[in-house]
Amino acid sequence: MRRIGSKEGIRQFLLANVGRIVQSAELQAAANGASEFGSRTRELRDEEGWPILTHNDSAELRPGEYLLKELPPPKKDVKFARAISAKLRAEVLDRNGFTCQMCGLTPGDIDPSTERKVRLHIGHIVDKSLGGRDELSNLRTLCSTCNQGAKNITNEKPSGIWLLSQVRRAGRDEQLALYDWLKSKFG
Ligand SMILES: [Zn+2]
Repeated sequence: MRRIGSKEGIRQFLLANVGRIVQSAELQAAANGASEFGSRTRELRDEEGWPILTHNDSAELRPGEYLLKELPPPKKDVKFARAISAKLRAEVLDRNGFTCQMCGLTPGDIDPSTERKVRLHIGHIVDKSLGGRDELSNLRTLCSTCNQGAKNITNEKPSGIWLLSQVRRAGRDEQLALYDWLKSKFG
């Protein structure tokens, strides 16, 4: 089985099914039956920036379902999609404490809006289309939901006064959980 053939098969199949939810069996068939069709599909997403959603990204999808949401970016943008190296990714995750910078959820949490495990992405603060660059100061971690702009939360960090007011209103159990978290963070 030719490796290049399986990826090209997936490419053409997805392009012919933009906006339609497809099953993993269909993708595998498009990949000439290649068992690594999942990895090839992820490569299209991670290396070429194809907007391919799975059940991890959208509550409308079940495991084994894939959706190419819209036409993929033109090839000339591919080098931008690739530009965030694994090292830079790790630096952003580390600096942001593996926490979504908009809603504060972490990969251990269940996102209340999707009831799915939180998955983190690297997003641009100033969008690339507005001249934002692939560098540490312009990158931040976002969960899938915030990355899709689905949560209506302001970008601003909460002020100290607002934060304290929320903590004072919270119940004793929430305050104790916060206390434990702060203790573990600041030792
Ligand atoms: Zn979030």
